[in-house]
Amino acid sequence: MTTIKLYNTKTRKKEVFTPLKADDVRMYVCGPTVYDRAHIGNARPVIVFDVLYRLLREEFGPDYVTYARNFTDVDDKINARAAETGRSIREITDETIGWYLDDMGALGNLEPDHAPRATEYIPEMITMIEGLIKAGHAYEAEGHVLFAVESYKNYGSLSGRSVDDMIAGARVEVAPYKRNPMDFVLWKPSDAQTPGWESPWGYGRPGWHIECSAMSDALFGNRFDIHGGGLDLAFPHHENEKAQSCACGSEDDFAQVWMHNEMLQVEGKKMSKSLGNFFSVRELIEQGYPGEVIRFVYLSTHYRKPMDWTDKKAKEAEATLRKWYAQAAQALDTAEPNQSVLDALGDDLNTAGALAEMHQLSHADDVASLRASLRALGLLNGDIPDWASDRDPLLGTLEAKMTVLRSKAMETKDFAQVDALKSALTAAGVSVRMSKEGISLEPAVGFDASKLEGLA
Ligand code: AMP
Ligand code: ZN
Repeated sequence: MTTIKLYNTKTRKKEVFTPLKADDVRMYVCGPTVYDRAHIGNARPVIVFDVLYRLLREEFGPDYVTYARNFTDVDDKINARAAETGRSIREITDETIGWYLDDMGALGNLEPDHAPRATEYIPEMITMIEGLIKAGHAYEAEGHVLFAVESYKNYGSLSGRSVDDMIAGARVEVAPYKRNPMDFVLWKPSDAQTPGWESPWGYGRPGWHIECSAMSDALFGNRFDIHGGGLDLAFPHHENEKAQSCACGSEDDFAQVWMHNEMLQVEGKKMSKSLGNFFSVRELIEQGYPGEVIRFVYLSTHYRKPMDWTDKKAKEAEATLRKWYAQAAQALDTAEPNQSVLDALGDDLNTAGALAEMHQLSHADDVASLRASLRALGLLNGDIPDWASDRDPLLGTLEAKMTVLRSKAMETKDFAQVDALKSALTAAGVSVRMSKEGISLEPAVGFDASKLEGLA
């Protein structure tokens, strides 16, 4: 049992997390707008909520936790990219989603259980907007539908601002058809060149905020456990989402816990294209940083603190991971993660504390707990990564070759080639492990790399 405490933006307190239903824990995280490669800031919420997802699965059981993260695939930035490149919106969004899943996978993140695309939930959004108009929370004006912030008494409660403060502090779009400058768009008209859908208010497209209200409602209903995203989303995106969903019948309830990660910077500066310190995750990987090293750097800062990406941190992370992986390689996947590591994570995802506990496990040479703890943090998802083991790269090639030979042999029932390769590998001092999960080749006593060459 691990007590999980989470800082709730809504109450501004760290609270013990008790799900609405222990056998149906639900978490919704706002995902990316898909028109370009994810930058390294975008990876922060992914890693933070992946650690939380893993912890919840550990605590409540993997079958009882559902994680949804959307793809915003209708947005003016996507439309602009399509106009610039002459490519179709679907082509751009499909390609970007593929890149995103590859890049986030390379950082050791599990895929969520649901990855809804906004464009697949347009009817649900229209239904929700109709309900808001009927209940007096929204109004139609010049082809737009706007949410009337004054109709919802708790508007501002999530981010802790009054409507007057918000007007003074925010760059709100002033438009003649708005009753209050803070009123925000639920639906807007599209011209013939812009993507759109038929609706009771004419051909148009949804505003941004309504998609998450409609998708979380469709997947989870209007009360669920955790809602997450980067701190830049707390206002206005989450404030608006909460207003819409609460006005649709969840009173002031909706998400029980709201969590926000702080922003990432590079070498002490805000990331920006003009400063030349703007990296995509793919660029970091191509510069040679292994995904595990990148993940370790993120985990070394608490998610509610600003985080700085530096090359120095990455070098240190690599040295630590090499040591830990060498120790973990001596253990099997039989142990449970160490309780002190889980307790640190349970304390509002104190990942830096969890890594400190793992340093202790490493000092104590508790290789089994260390291995299990690496898994709990998503730093070990299968075998020890090749970059960290000084394993001959030919072994990877031979593993792949043997896997192909074995699957052919399963069909032909002729295992002669597989057996011959196995004997040759054993003669070269390689330990060959075959299981349902796959084939694993590791150097063993008497290993002689020179004998591998003719085999690959
Ligand atoms: P976007 O595609 O801009 O909607 O962003 C996707 C996610 O990345 C959101 O949860 C943002 O809050 C988050 N995000 C964007 N920039 C950063 C940053 N520099 N640091 C941390 N999180 C960020
Ligand atoms: Zn959202």
